[in-house]
Formats: sequence, C-alpha cells, structure tokens
Amino acid sequence: MSTVVEHSHPWIQNLVAYDPGKPIEETARELGLDPESIIKVASNENPLGPSPVAVEAMKEAASGVHIYPDGGGYRLRSAIAEKFGLDRQNIILGNGSNEIIELIGHGFLQPGDEVVVAEHAFVVYKLMATLFGAKTIEVPDPGFVHDLDAMADAITEKTKKVFIANPNNPTGTMVDEEALDRFMERVPDHVMVILDEAYYEFLHEPPNTLKYVEQGKNVVIMRTFSKIQGLAGLRIGYGITTPEIAEVLQKCRQPFNANSIAQAGALAGLMDDEHQLKTRDLNDEGLAFWQEKLREQEIDFVPSFANFLLVKVGDGDEVFRRMLQRGVIIRAMSGYKLPEWVRISMGTMEENRRCFDTLVEVLGEMS
Ligand SMILES: *Cc1c(COP(=O)(O)O)cnc(C)c1O
Repeated sequence: MSTVVEHSHPWIQNLVAYDPGKPIEETARELGLDPESIIKVASNENPLGPSPVAVEAMKEAASGVHIYPDGGGYRLRSAIAEKFGLDRQNIILGNGSNEIIELIGHGFLQPGDEVVVAEHAFVVYKLMATLFGAKTIEVPDPGFVHDLDAMADAITEKTKKVFIANPNNPTGTMVDEEALDRFMERVPDHVMVILDEAYYEFLHEPPNTLKYVEQGKNVVIMRTFSKIQGLAGLRIGYGITTPEIAEVLQKCRQPFNANSIAQAGALAGLMDDEHQLKTRDLNDEGLAFWQEKLREQEIDFVPSFANFLLVKVGDGDEVFRRMLQRGVIIRAMSGYKLPEWVRISMGTMEENRRCFDTLVEVLGEMS
C-alpha cells in the first residue's frame, strides 16, 4: 500500500463503499440486451418518471446554466417553508437528502461519538457515521420494525444522534406518531434525532413530525425529491429543522450544493400535487398486486408502507443474478446482512407483472 493510502483515516480503511442498484445501460452491455427490454425495479425510483411540469421548468433553466445557482436557494426554500407553514430559516437544501446526512456529520460528529440506528436501517447512516470516526450502535428491530423504546435505552452520554427512517428502507416498515411522541419525550438534550422521511408522501396517514421542529426539539426531518417526485437523477433533497441547527448545517455545505436545474425542477415538482397523487395511486395498486400474489404463492415478505417490498427468496444473490439474466434488475440484500431477501421496487403495472412472473419462474427453477 502506498504511504499516502496508509495514512488515510484508520476508520475509513474499514469503510465499505455504498453499493447502488445496477444501472440499465451497464446490464444491457454486459448481457448484450437492448436497454429497452430491461426493467429496473431496484432503487425505489418513480415508474411514472418525473413530473412533466418539473421537466418543463428544467428545460427552461437549462438555458441559464452559465450563471451560478442561487447559493441560498431562496425560492425553493421559501416554497418548501410555505408549504409546511414554516420559515425559510427552517429549511436546508442538500445534493440529495443523503448529503444532509453528511452535513450533519460535518457539523455534529467527532471520532468516538456514538450514533444509534435500527439493525436494518438505511445503510447510509452507518457509512456516514464511520466516515466521521463515530461508532454505530445497531439496535435489534424485531419484525423489522424500529424498536424505539430499545433505541432510547441504547442512548448513552456518548450518543450524539439517533436516526429513524420512517418508513424505513429496505424494510418498508414504519413507526406511528404515538411511538415517536413517546420516544421524543425520552431523548436527552445532548442528542439530535434525525427523522428520514424519504417515503413520507406515499403514506395515507403520515405522522405529524413537523410539530417537533415547531416545539424547538433537536430534530432534523429529511425529505427528498428523489422518490415520489421522480427526480432521483437531479440530486436534491431538504432538511426541516430549527433555525439554530439549520444555521450550523448551512456552514457545513459547499456554496452551490444544489444546482440551478435541480432547484428549478424541484420547485415545479413540489407544486405538482397531481403527479404525486398519480404516483401514490399507482404505488397502492402495485403494493396490493404484489402482496396478494406473494400470499397466493406463499412467498414470505414484509408488509410495506413505502414503494418497495422486502421479499424472502432463499438465496438473494442468486435470485438477483438469475433475474438479471432475464433483464429484470432487483436488489440483493446481502449488503444489509439479509442474504435470504431481495428488495423489489414498485414499477408500472406491466413491470410489476413481468417482475412477479420472472420471480416465480426463477424460484421454480431453483427449488
Ligand atoms: C432513497 C432514500 C433517501 C433519498 O436519498 P436522496 O439522496 O435524496 O436521493 C433517503 N433516505 C432513505 C431511507 C432512502 O431510501
């Protein structure tokens, strides 16, 4: 190993880079298939595509990209704040909501700190904690549901943050407002709670969590334009928090972390309730289809509140490979220490049917 590499942070040497869903183009090249014949239901993307209104706004913004973006994100932050009855000072923009996880690390984490997460929580929390030399405490989640009482019990003097993904990825499970209220009551003052609500808009009865911000609690609510808005490629998300925490996070970011096309697309997408409702309806239909079919076939799965399902298939890596051969990209879960499971995103109904049929065929072949 070169001296320079040897001298990288010791904690980074153990860091395993995030493994994203396999891209369609790469799969097509490797298998010699037409990209058009491949479906990707691996990264919880919107099968309807982006909001058409957002696409128009982005086209318009494209002719202005010789000018640096509005570094303060004035219009977008104002619009988000207005939508939720808050002030612009409550809102921070991120290059995807994932960047906000990193900003929180920059602002608030030091080597030796502890970060509490659920055992099967979204893996980026642990990656980011590790990046800053913090230790991740993984609390068992019976039935794949965050056990908030146990997570509160796991808080020590060294704990700086607790991450709650609600609904969680990859499990699709959620905790209700009552459980959250009870948890928030117990959290001591030196701990920040991060509520990751990437799939919030898919819920029919979402818990009210904005009240924690209004009450001035040490909380950051993260939301994203990547999921229901269909803007994953743009990389834009936001945090809702107290003005005091937001001020720290503003200092931790690059001056132009949210680019101008992303700001324009997000602003238009935010207002496009029609596209969001259409997406949620399709998702409801997809979840109903999948869950009924899986029950019929007696295939085990975790009932989901999000736009994907965790399905128990035996050998997840092998099922992933065999489905890939047939042009269907899903996500193996061995990286989440769930080698028997795969995660399947809800697609169009045509994609759902093809994916389900392919899964049954592959499982039949393997049994
Ligand atoms: C998809 C997802 C995000 C969103 O990430 P972006 O960086 O906004 O694309 C955040 N948290 C969870 C749990 C997710 O599944």
